[in-house]
Amino acid sequence: MAERTLLLVDDSALIRQLVRKTVSGAGIFSSILEAEDGEKALEIFLKNKIDFIITDVMLPKVNGYELITAVKESETGQDIPIIVISASRKEVVDKIKGLNMGASDYVIKPFDGRELLARITVFIKLQDLQSELKEKNALLEKMSMTDELTGLYNRRYFYDHINMQIALAKRHTYVIGCLLIDIDHFKNINDTYGHDVGDKVLKGAANIMKGKMRGGEVLARFGGEEFIVCLIKTSHDGAVSAAERMRKAVEDANLSNDANNPLKVTISIGVAIYPQQGLENSDDIIKAADKVLYCAKKGGRNRTAIYSEMVSSLA
Ligand code: GH3
Ligand code: MG
Ligand code: MG
Repeated sequence: MAERTLLLVDDSALIRQLVRKTVSGAGIFSSILEAEDGEKALEIFLKNKIDFIITDVMLPKVNGYELITAVKESETGQDIPIIVISASRKEVVDKIKGLNMGASDYVIKPFDGRELLARITVFIKLQDLQSELKEKNALLEKMSMTDELTGLYNRRYFYDHINMQIALAKRHTYVIGCLLIDIDHFKNINDTYGHDVGDKVLKGAANIMKGKMRGGEVLARFGGEEFIVCLIKTSHDGAVSAAERMRKAVEDANLSNDANNPLKVTISIGVAIYPQQGLENSDDIIKAADKVLYCAKKGGRNRTAIYSEMVSSLA
């Protein structure tokens, strides 16, 4: 049985006993907590993880409606089904009031145990479907921003992130560093060892780079054997040392997991800093990093090149 706790609220011990007997036989709840007034019920609700509530309307201290309102206004209470049990003769008015406040359903005393059970089961099924949907949505959201092969963020997420960071950097005047990283002669790895080994090298290099990231820094797979980093609240020197940290870590690593047959790769990195004259948006910044990455390649690979230095050397 799934872990599921019922909070049962009624000032009548007899009704509580009746409900308890009805639901216990069906094995729906792994535990049942009872309260004889609304105040106690709220106390229990706040201290425990409650999955379902069955409550009377006329209760001492805090009444059923006030209890429903408090539960629905709480952080965890919005999705909790609440079945109201009432002996009210103003049946319809009370029903509407309760349902408007967020009760899921209504049962009038004296009630048939089978009816109560059937109603509970409907909401439990709905609850299960809702949590399944939530899990699937969370998975979809994760998939939509993740690169499948490496598990890093993908290009789309990176763009969203850097655009947001540029907006924040403008407002709070801090420096952003963009590192465009490309594995050197990666085609040789595929040609020599095959595509599967190529994939393993991509994953391995991604892991090593990820291990060098600090809080708030985002590393993404930009495409193929290219990766990209967004550093925030950094400086020229900070960005260069982050790039060098990553470059050296990849250079030093053995990506074959076999000390006797080491598999080594190196990376080249283009660094662009924002703000920088002529760089207005994420496309400009990434293009600048790409331009200077090309210089790093031409300069012999396994090195870091910095856009601002390239620009001043040309000036
Ligand atoms: P350079 O140092 O100039 O960057 O040389 P390079 O060989 O790394 O660059 P090039 O652009 O010529 O080749 C990149 C190769 O990366 C070609 C492509 O087949 C391979 N590649 C891209 N994506 C993947 C992938 O997901 N898995 C594997 N195994 N290979 C990939
Ligand atoms: Mg490339
Ligand atoms: Mg390459």
